[in-house]
Amino acid sequence: MDWILFLYPEARNLGIYANRPVRGGQARSVHATGRALDIGADLPLLKKLIGDIYTARDLFQVEEIHDYIGAWIPTEGYGAGYRCDRDRGGLLAGWKVYDRPTIGRGGSWTHIELAPTFSDDPELVDQTFTAILEAVAHQASTKKKKTKTGQS
Ligand SMILES: [Zn+2]
Repeated sequence: MDWILFLYPEARNLGIYANRPVRGGQARSVHATGRALDIGADLPLLKKLIGDIYTARDLFQVEEIHDYIGAWIPTEGYGAGYRCDRDRGGLLAGWKVYDRPTIGRGGSWTHIELAPTFSDDPELVDQTFTAILEAVAHQASTKKKKTKTGQS
């Protein structure tokens, strides 16, 4: 979560650890395991955030993403969700637009679940984000060089 807020300073941490049952249910929430994040953002940022996390889903070992308000995919009022167990590659792999209440009512935030092998390994988390920042920095410097050569 620290890394997410560093990369997206306008996003809000809506909670990570909470030993609570799912809203209106008996089952323990994944938040009780400490591997679920709720991140709040306005619509454009939420769209970017969900897109970025979805793109990097293999790196972060993402198991689920909830898009409650159709920030990323147009929905029919019940939101949309990504689940790694229905991700078989291809466009929008793993996503499903729900036609009935499935992920509960949400708002302008996203709920993300990471595999324990990722979330329980702080070193791996740091390594992954460091690699992403290096890749972004490298892209930026390559672009600059290209622009320069283009001008000369
Ligand atoms: Zn949540």
